[in-house]
Amino acid sequence: MTDFDFLPDTAPMPVIFAGHGNPMNAIEQNEFTQTWNTIGKEIPAPALIVSISAHWETRGAKITAMPTPQTIHDFGGFPDELYRVQYPAPGNPGFAGKLTDSLGENTLSGTSDWGLDHGTWSVLKHIFPKADIPVVQISLNRYFTPEQHYSFARELALLRNKGVLLFSSGNIVHNLREVDWYHADYGHEWAMEAREKVNELILSDKHDELINFKKLGTAVNKAAPTDEHFLPLLYSMALKNDNDEVSLFNDKLVMGSLSMTGLMISNIK
Ligand code: ZN
Repeated sequence: MTDFDFLPDTAPMPVIFAGHGNPMNAIEQNEFTQTWNTIGKEIPAPALIVSISAHWETRGAKITAMPTPQTIHDFGGFPDELYRVQYPAPGNPGFAGKLTDSLGENTLSGTSDWGLDHGTWSVLKHIFPKADIPVVQISLNRYFTPEQHYSFARELALLRNKGVLLFSSGNIVHNLREVDWYHADYGHEWAMEAREKVNELILSDKHDELINFKKLGTAVNKAAPTDEHFLPLLYSMALKNDNDEVSLFNDKLVMGSLSMTGLMISNIK
């Protein structure tokens, strides 16, 4: 990967996976949003953010290539206040173009058809409230196997040394059919089991087992009945080097069947 001279050379940037949970987190101040806010103050300011969200799946991987990505309110049935939220971070068409050139159009292609969806902005709004750092989103290629997602993510690794924050957003435990709207602070038994199992694999670097998450048994299958909220985790894990450490944050279950667990991968030199 060459030709990113317009970005600074930096020490390896951290990599972040966030469990975004309920879109209402965008306008709430709670323990989860407070952690996000603290993270924004503690990490080096990125030159650019690349975000992979559970909420954008396409045929072939796409990258947002417009100068001013729109804030997409991709949910229904929430209060007006949430629909009024704007996250006016600029895009960076030059970067998007260079990345597609470098990976090849068959691997990644630019589009003006999307913007920033709530997987991205509901969390970034708390990490970088000023919305002054350019953000590009990369979609989940619907035709990739988990293994292919992981390999694709590895191709982005060098960007960590170019001041780029690789950010991904999903939920490790995400089963909307099992949501218990009346118990915010609660996790079903199977959800606890799945959380524990996946956390253990994250912290012991068992990437192959994470890639093969469909073979981790009943609890994990119930936690990830569809792939899209789990896959962003693989993007972060793929970017971990041997001299990085992983720390978990917001490691809690809410409403029975959602986990807010996030992780930060940081270079320990
Ligand atoms: Zn979601």
